[in-house]
Amino acid sequence: MPIKETIPMEQQQGWLWDQYQTTVPMSTYLLAFVISDFGYLKATTKGDVLFKTWAKESVLYQATYAHQVGPAILDHFAVYFNQSYPLPKLDQIAVAGFPAGAMENWGLVTYGEPVLLYDSAVSTPINKFYVVAFVAHELAHQWFGNLVTPRWWTDIWLNEGFASYIEFIGMQSVEPSWKVMELFLDLKLQSVMHNDDVQSSHPVRIEVNHPNEITQIFDRITYSKGSTIIRMMNHFLTEAVFRHGLSTYLDAFKYNNAEQDDLWRHLTEAAHEACTLPANLTVKTIMDTWTLQMGYPVIKVERSADGTSAAVSQGGGGGQAVSSLHLTSLSRWPRQERFLLVKDDNSDDTHDYKWWVPLTYTGQDQPDFSQTQTKVYLSMAFNGKSGIGKQDSSRVFTAVAGNDAGRTLAWSYLRTNWKRIYDYFGGKAKPGLISTATKDFNTEQHLKEVMAFKEERGAELSAASRTIDQAIEKTKSNMAWMKRNHNTITAWLQNEGYTVHLKSA
Ligand SMILES: [Zn+2]
Repeated sequence: MPIKETIPMEQQQGWLWDQYQTTVPMSTYLLAFVISDFGYLKATTKGDVLFKTWAKESVLYQATYAHQVGPAILDHFAVYFNQSYPLPKLDQIAVAGFPAGAMENWGLVTYGEPVLLYDSAVSTPINKFYVVAFVAHELAHQWFGNLVTPRWWTDIWLNEGFASYIEFIGMQSVEPSWKVMELFLDLKLQSVMHNDDVQSSHPVRIEVNHPNEITQIFDRITYSKGSTIIRMMNHFLTEAVFRHGLSTYLDAFKYNNAEQDDLWRHLTEAAHEACTLPANLTVKTIMDTWTLQMGYPVIKVERSADGTSAAVSQGGGGGQAVSSLHLTSLSRWPRQERFLLVKDDNSDDTHDYKWWVPLTYTGQDQPDFSQTQTKVYLSMAFNGKSGIGKQDSSRVFTAVAGNDAGRTLAWSYLRTNWKRIYDYFGGKAKPGLISTATKDFNTEQHLKEVMAFKEERGAELSAASRTIDQAIEKTKSNMAWMKRNHNTITAWLQNEGYTVHLKSA
């Protein structure tokens, strides 16, 4: 906290007494003091936080880059978490001979000189990458770790996994041209698979009873696998749901501590509210299989001989084959096999490994590689064994189709499975599904697709034939509206200083 006042000490010539403002409720491990004659760079963030970057006077110029990205990342996180940074100031300081990479003390982040200082004349691009990665990581901790602390060391992965994922969000915000979310796959996901493919790996969440065990868990499983499964969660829940769940979680537990089940509960609530998870499925059910057991499953995708369909299976054969390119699923498969680099036939590991696997796919007809939300809900919605009653199927479909990320997916599913859905409802068409999936269509491609659908499905459309005509007309009128207004609105927004781009549905 900032100094409240400095007063000379009575009867002690040359001594001063500093009094600081009262801290917010916090963990003791986050308290730090620094006494130095360092120089600093100063800025005020948009959130009105006094931000200083400190280093030895002789190398202060090398702190410029860290000081440029730090305040911007702090502002970005406050928006991302929908929770402002709670202290009036933040200092970051480069310390020579610092034993760890950096430490996220609340409001006074300490770094080793090599990870905070950057000199464009002599440093390499990878040095620059690490400066922003470290700054973003430690600033992410100001929320994940500092504002909400794990209840016990067992849940330390919530700190480190989150900071390791969120650091990429922070980097992306200040260095968008680096495309760091793509680097994530190489640096975190693929690399940690090598740590997790041995018998002696350990679950992300692990019992901790002795101080020695604390040191041991600060490893790649905690950091990299933790961040990787958080990324998976972001993808299957969708970005909006993920952020909303994080925000209510941070708000509910701020200045306090929590464990992973608390986070699962908040994310589940957000997902059920937005209908990105079926009502009978929780985040805990899925994520416990990734945090409480080690390893990861073997998944096989086999293309059919004619190349028009694929089958997905897990483990030692006998998996579930699925028809056409519409692979399912987020389901718990009967036989699963943990991937091991070398199998030890004498292993005494009798654990029955099973994972919930969110799966999505794309094909030539819909080459949308940014769509990562799992397709499970659709597959489950029109299947009598899914646990979702017939009366609720349309609601599940509507929830997916009503969501920006889900719309393309819903339409693609509908086009391919119309006959199956038609039969499922006893030979009755469901016009509402068409109008929901197509309601925001506004491009030439959309129009072509809806017209092709009408052509292909002629006889099976029955009661939906009028709806398909309406969808065609509506698409045409949306296209006309876009043609008339798109450029004007874009120009107006740009004039007003927004970089927002209008997006076709
Ligand atoms: Zn950390």
